[in-house]
Amino acid sequence: ARLVRESPMAYNPDNVFAKILRGETPSTKLYEDDFALAFNDIGAVLPIHVLVVPKGAYENQADFISNGSDAEVLGFWRAVSVAAELAGVVDAGYRLIVNTGDDGGQEVSHFHVHILGGRPVGRMVSD
Ligand code: 5GP
Repeated sequence: ARLVRESPMAYNPDNVFAKILRGETPSTKLYEDDFALAFNDIGAVLPIHVLVVPKGAYENQADFISNGSDAEVLGFWRAVSVAAELAGVVDAGYRLIVNTGDDGGQEVSHFHVHILGGRPVGRMVSD
């Protein structure tokens, strides 16, 4: 069954990742294809901290899986794996994080996956 979009008018095209996708805000690009862009997080909390965003305008995972095409969803998750390979963290291991909503600590309202690694990442949550 298809999920229903949670908040149809919520996507804000002025969010910083939309600006990065449009080239209006600079970023240090690691990987790009038809479905996704991967770039370094400006506030890196570990030696490797890469963000991967779908090219389409989706606010969060529920929006993406509900309204993205099969090709977009598959292409995005493939790009996450490619970015992890290019970041050099696959052999040692890494963590993927998707912050969602207020309790999840989501600051930017364009769906994104954090790739974290370069050293042991530590506890799953800090407290
Ligand atoms: P969230 O809390 O929404 O999961 O993560 C947002 C992330 O975006 C944060 O880790 C923050 O450092 C990063 N970020 C915010 N503004 C910019 C920016 O202008 N450029 C880049 N590369 N990262 C940003």
